[in-house]
Amino acid sequence: MTPTKPESLALHAGYRADPTTNAVAVPIYQTTSYQFEDSAHAARLFELSEMGNIYTRVMNPTNDIFEQRMAAVEGGAAALAVSSGQAATTLSILNIAETGDNIVSSTDLYGGTWNLFANTLKTMGIEVRFVDPADPENFRRASDARTRAFYAETLPNPKLQVFPIREVADIAEDIGLPLIMDNTASPVICRPFDHGAHIIVHSATKYIGGHGNSIGGVIIDGGTFDWEQHAERFPMLNQPDPSYHGAVWTVATKELGPVAYIVKARCTLLRDLGTALSPFNTFNFIQGLETLSLRMREHCRNAQAVADYLSGDSRVAKVIYPGMTPDDRSERTEKYLTEGRGGLVGFEIKDATEETGARFIDSLQMIYHVANIGDTRTLAIHPASTTHQQLKPEERLATGVTPGYLRLSVGIEHIDDILADLDQALNAAVAGKAKAA
Ligand code: PLP
Repeated sequence: MTPTKPESLALHAGYRADPTTNAVAVPIYQTTSYQFEDSAHAARLFELSEMGNIYTRVMNPTNDIFEQRMAAVEGGAAALAVSSGQAATTLSILNIAETGDNIVSSTDLYGGTWNLFANTLKTMGIEVRFVDPADPENFRRASDARTRAFYAETLPNPKLQVFPIREVADIAEDIGLPLIMDNTASPVICRPFDHGAHIIVHSATKYIGGHGNSIGGVIIDGGTFDWEQHAERFPMLNQPDPSYHGAVWTVATKELGPVAYIVKARCTLLRDLGTALSPFNTFNFIQGLETLSLRMREHCRNAQAVADYLSGDSRVAKVIYPGMTPDDRSERTEKYLTEGRGGLVGFEIKDATEETGARFIDSLQMIYHVANIGDTRTLAIHPASTTHQQLKPEERLATGVTPGYLRLSVGIEHIDDILADLDQALNAAVAGKAKAA
């Protein structure tokens, strides 16, 4: 019997026991390199006629199992583990876009992704055209013959408005483009491949690791995009690659299944840019992945309780949680967040200034003040003065960050303790406001 459900695949995909020791826990293969059987074996590995380990910058047995598990959990064909979520996003684009090309991206993005798109990719000659995802047709309108992908986050914070995956995937299919989804904030509770997305990226740093101890990322190919059918648009996958003795990636990988995109990313970008994931970090991600479904359930349950509590509180002006926000498109929440609404909650204290927000943060006692999400512990931050500080004020507002906005990443502590800490910090923030007046 082969497991089929994400809960089981997260525990079993890609590994049963260590072939030499029978160890059940996935070992950390802490090695840089691998002994070739002989010269012919080495040559076969380098020319890709046989797959195998050469050097840990591009391949490692611990990483390989994590990659297989992530592909299985998301329902994809192949995956590539990298050193951070940022590296996953960067490589996902550089794998198919070069100078003169463009991508069309949702405006609702993590601040780091916004910076990468608006500044760093621009210096490489790749234009990112930002569009409002409220109308999926904006993606079509912004695309042209040099567009190489659509990009979006499933559950972008701070707005927490679920992205119209199927609607934009259909437009992408129509034009002949892949839809790349950052599913960092919604693993397990949404599977973008089920709704037509073609590539998924994750910051494994967040819910997948879960324990706040390792930075890493992963790119997963759903295996459904036909790169050969759109050969003109994707020369990097369909024309001889001078950096790999003229390999045509769609041809060289034909026997292996729909893995051209991932194999190319591994063999060229990971090789050249060196954004390799340490197997030690991968081990931590594998531990996290084993309980991901359980934790997501608890994150969602606690976050819903926090959102309900804040919505009924006279000190709070506004609560942002999928399905609860007045300007939320509830039909998208229902359609895509089928297994829970996530662990992120945003809110604004009544008549809040930046000072009120800071006072709330400084008064928290159990909840951590950190620039992170997806930890088992509850985390809080004031994005305007931290994660989104480097954005221009108008860019900040475009991503949904108002001066008084506070973001919670609700953890898996007992809900009574979470609410008690929020209550006392709200009292302190509001009392300070009264004193200042
Ligand atoms: N994508 C999202 C949605 C994120 O929240 C983050 C980090 O906060 C990233 C990508 C980048 O991930 P990393 O910090 O692992 O580079």
